Amino acid sequence: MPANILDGKALAKTIREELAVEVVEFIQQHEVVPSLAAVLVGEDPASEVYVRMKRRDCEQVGIHSVMHRLPETTTQDELLKLIGELNTNASIHGILVQLPLPGQINEQAILDAVSPDKDVDSFHPTNVGLMVQGRPRFLPCTPSGVQQLLIREGIETSGKNVVVVGRSEIVGKPLSVMMGLRGPGGDATVTICHSRTKDLPAVTREADILIVAIGKANFVTADMVKPGAVVIDVGVNRTDDGLVGDVDFDAVKEIASQLTPVPGGVGPLTRVMLLVNTLTAARQAQAK
Ligand code: NDP
Repeated sequence: MPANILDGKALAKTIREELAVEVVEFIQQHEVVPSLAAVLVGEDPASEVYVRMKRRDCEQVGIHSVMHRLPETTTQDELLKLIGELNTNASIHGILVQLPLPGQINEQAILDAVSPDKDVDSFHPTNVGLMVQGRPRFLPCTPSGVQQLLIREGIETSGKNVVVVGRSEIVGKPLSVMMGLRGPGGDATVTICHSRTKDLPAVTREADILIVAIGKANFVTADMVKPGAVVIDVGVNRTDDGLVGDVDFDAVKEIASQLTPVPGGVGPLTRVMLLVNTLTAARQAQAK
């Protein structure tokens, strides 16, 4: 029987609807509108699209968004100055710095300068550390989207063999940690793989839940998947055939029990988690 296709788009809509209600309640209670500052440096077309989508998402749930557009020639000091101002601006709860930044700017220095209280991407070392210790302030958006998908689709993770392929700071590494922590969407036995992993297919075939985030179109073939496994495809690759994931969707859907599509799988959930984190940041600011 072909796999059940996990509809990330529909789930993201449900979460957005829940969030819109929570935002109204928050505004009524505190007379404060949760606000996100989006910082875009330069004119990278893909980044422009991402920021526009993120701002539209905010509007849909009643979160206020403010755009800061800086020229390609912006220096690191100029950007640090803006981040400093946003950090101390009490009407801003979340700060999003769209990556990549132009070459003259050290991305790590910028991400480290964002106040951990407003770090809605959860890239700051303090927030990474809190997450690793199992007491997160925010969860990183893509891993959190994957975890919410598993939880809300009723996919048991406790005691399962989870194999994460990819060890990036934004997806693979934090997700592998989160799935090994105690609690819902965790308690798994996690294996993390990367480009140095020996005999990758032998490892991925052990997975009850296989999560792939490497950025290689159609890389995971049916022979790499255990029959009945849940397969989560984080990859987004532009090809002549349009957007495709890291998983060979047509072949793997004949083997897996559940599978996310690309587009319409993890991507919409990633976007919604930024909104969840912005409301969380606003709540935490009110509680101080
Ligand atoms: P990175 O390029 O930062 O990391 C890729 C990882 O994959 C690295 O750890 C690398 O290993 C590993 N890798 C590469 N080739 C292989 C291979 N042949 N076998 C095993 N491991 C391999 O990618 P990101 O994590 O940033 O993104 C991954 C994909 O997810 C991309 O397609 C990206 O577009 C997509 N993405 C999607 C999002 C969404 O919302 N849906 C959000 C973020 C990313 P090594 O460390 O050894 O180099």
